[in-house]
Amino acid sequence: MSENHMMDPVTALENVLQRIDRAAAEARRQTADVTLVAVSKTYEAAHILPILGAGQRVFGENRVQEAKAKWPELKRQFPDIVLHLIGPLQSNKAGEAVALFDCIETIDRPKIAVAVAAEMAKQGRKLELFVQINTGEEPQKAGIAPKDAPAFVAYCRDELKLAIAGLMCIPPAEDMPAPHFALLAKMAGELGLSKLSMGMSADFECAVSLGATHVRVGSAIFGVRQ
Ligand SMILES: *Cc1c(COP(=O)(O)O)cnc(C)c1O
Repeated sequence: MSENHMMDPVTALENVLQRIDRAAAEARRQTADVTLVAVSKTYEAAHILPILGAGQRVFGENRVQEAKAKWPELKRQFPDIVLHLIGPLQSNKAGEAVALFDCIETIDRPKIAVAVAAEMAKQGRKLELFVQINTGEEPQKAGIAPKDAPAFVAYCRDELKLAIAGLMCIPPAEDMPAPHFALLAKMAGELGLSKLSMGMSADFECAVSLGATHVRVGSAIFGVRQ
C-alpha cells in the first residue's frame, strides 16, 4: 500500500495492526493468534525506538552482525523484546545468534540444526525454532525442499532433540503467494507443527487468511529500504 510511504512509522504500524485485525476477523481467526514481526533490517535504533514506544515488541532482523550492533542496547532498555532471526545463518555465527535472538526462523540444513542445538545446550538457552521451507524450490534460495521436510523435522526432533515450533517460507517474488502459503499450512498440519511464519508487506493479509501465526512486515512499517 503506497499510502504507507507517506505515513510516520507509528501510524504505519497502527495501520498494519488494523489490517491484521481485519484479515483475522474475515478468516474467523483471533487477532491474538497472529504475531506481527516488525522487520527492522537496515533501520537504526533511532528509527526503531518510536515503534518500541508504541508497544511493538517482536522484531525481525536478517543479519547477525547488524543485529548485534543495535539490539543488545535496545534489549537492555526493553527487556521484553522478542528478536527473530529471519535471514540465513552461517554455522560460525550460531553462537552469537543463539546468544542474541529469541527465535531462529531459518533452520534450513542439518549443519545449522546441529550448530544451533549445540549452542543452545552450551549456553543454556532455549530458542523458538522454525524450519525454512523452499516452497518454490528455487535453486538460489535457502530452505528445505518440501519433499525433504518430514525427514528433516524428524531428524531435528529425534536425533538432535530440537523442538521445532513451525515452518517459515519466502515465496518466489514472481509467483502469486497464496499457493505457497497454502502448501506451507498443509505441510505444518501434516507434521503436527502449530506455527507458520509467512507473509510480508505485500501479502500479509493473504497469509493471515491462510493461517499465518507470524507475519514479517518491514517496509509497510518503516518505509521502503534504501
Ligand atoms: C526483509 C524481509 C521481510 C520484510 O519484507 P517487507 O517486504 O519489507 O515487508 C520479511 N521476511 C524476510 C525473510 C525478509 O528478509
